[in-house]
Amino acid sequence: MSVFTSHMDAALAEARAAAGRGEVPVGAVVVAPDGRIVAAAGNRTRELSDPTAHAEILAIRAACAAAGSERLPDHDLWVTLEPCPMCAAAISAARIGRLYYGAGDPRMGGVAHGARVFDHPQCHHRPQIYDGLGAADARALLQDFFARRR
Ligand SMILES: [Zn+2]
Repeated sequence: MSVFTSHMDAALAEARAAAGRGEVPVGAVVVAPDGRIVAAAGNRTRELSDPTAHAEILAIRAACAAAGSERLPDHDLWVTLEPCPMCAAAISAARIGRLYYGAGDPRMGGVAHGARVFDHPQCHHRPQIYDGLGAADARALLQDFFARRR
């Protein structure tokens, strides 16, 4: 019997670190089938001058590099905020097995909102999706970040 372990705290730690760098506080980790965290990242769009440097993309890139594979079957992705359409497409392309995300994002999200990437027939791989884990903490980080910038 496997014991469920939440990795949302690790993703939230990455989100906090991103806020400390002046980045929008979103964090993500990739967990291998054996339960190890194989990649962890926070947003670095400003630091890298790269609009694609979202936490999920950076974590997936690092996990794929470590695995020596463009696909991560049976891996889980934990992210503090609902992925945007770009990240949802990358999650699908990487064949991530399970997606756990914290807060929903009605403005930029592409899973339960907007593009709803995984719901299209053209989407060839749909992960199992679990939302709402650590949502209050993830939302508080974002609200605090944007309140400070105002
Ligand atoms: Zn994204």
